[in-house]
Amino acid sequence: MTVSEAKTLLTKLPKADLGFFPTPLHKLKNLSDEFNINLYMKRDDFSGRNLFGGNKIRKLEYLLGDALERHCDYVFTYGATQSNHAMQTAAAARSLGMTPVLYLVAIVPPDKNDIRSNLLLDQIFGAEIHVVEMKDGESEEDAENRSFEMAKERMKELNSLGHLCYDIPMGGANEIGSAAFIEGYAELCEQLEALNLTPDYIFHATGTGGTMAGLAAGNVLLGSRSNIVSVNVSKKNEQYLIDTADLATKSLRLIGSNQSVYYETDLHMDLNYYAPGYEQPNEASTEAIRHLARTEGILTDPVYTGKALAGLFDYARSGRLSPNSTVIFWHTGGTTALFAESSILGSLRMPLV
Ligand SMILES: *Cc1c(COP(=O)(O)O)cnc(C)c1O
Repeated sequence: MTVSEAKTLLTKLPKADLGFFPTPLHKLKNLSDEFNINLYMKRDDFSGRNLFGGNKIRKLEYLLGDALERHCDYVFTYGATQSNHAMQTAAAARSLGMTPVLYLVAIVPPDKNDIRSNLLLDQIFGAEIHVVEMKDGESEEDAENRSFEMAKERMKELNSLGHLCYDIPMGGANEIGSAAFIEGYAELCEQLEALNLTPDYIFHATGTGGTMAGLAAGNVLLGSRSNIVSVNVSKKNEQYLIDTADLATKSLRLIGSNQSVYYETDLHMDLNYYAPGYEQPNEASTEAIRHLARTEGILTDPVYTGKALAGLFDYARSGRLSPNSTVIFWHTGGTTALFAESSILGSLRMPLV
């Protein structure tokens, strides 16, 4: 299928206008020379109406398009206290006249006297914020499940007052949100076509899997052969791939395609760069953030993009990228994390001498 045919399929979904698309694509000249590849960056960090955009804006255009069609006036979503997705949802909901309600699990507990980064922005957007503190010995997943239950109660209350609530899963990772990245993939191919290029490799950070699902679905739909390297930012197992393939196929059905995404052949996750865990930095990601900043003058973040970048640099340095191949680094945003809690920054923050 051609890019324009794929884009036509997507036009049947309702969509809100929340940002600036297509996002820029530009060459990283210095790193291209260093690694002997053609390295481009896709700037989804420039997607939103603020400096603090990111990949969730793309998803939210379709999710909140659906919410508008359903006449919802409250938007619920979930994440960590420094969730980029929650912050972008708050901004997007406000721009459409809806009230954002956020359930945020305190994986890194915020300092109540020094609220920072996305949590601060959530406050400025006037979101209804519910911080869900983790209980002793509770897993992140259990705390998240508890936050979903709390939200259900709040929705019932709002419903009884005559409000209509729209519920967005963590990361906006459902078939509607992921469909946005089918469009993102088509958008990238269109930009590369104008340069007479096709994407040989795409590197991006994967969390909930919504972005990965959409990109993989786009790759299948267009019959292209990009190697999409999805660098995990937290621990996952094979079930994650199965679920992500399922999500990708659902997005294809949603836009009227009968093609499918298979996890054995169409998805490639890389678990080598997330350790020790979500919102916990490592040496490789710290080095990668500094290296990009010092060669190209571009910022990435310690939670998501820095880890994906560490993956890209490692592949390049160890000769796993064919010489002169076209490599895309998908900048998914998240740089507000540079102003988050010290434990999220690790050794990126240095004492002044
Ligand atoms: C959410 C997020 C991701 C991961 O996207 P998913 O669709 O959840 O996998 C990557 N980078 C940043 C900066 C994000 O906020």
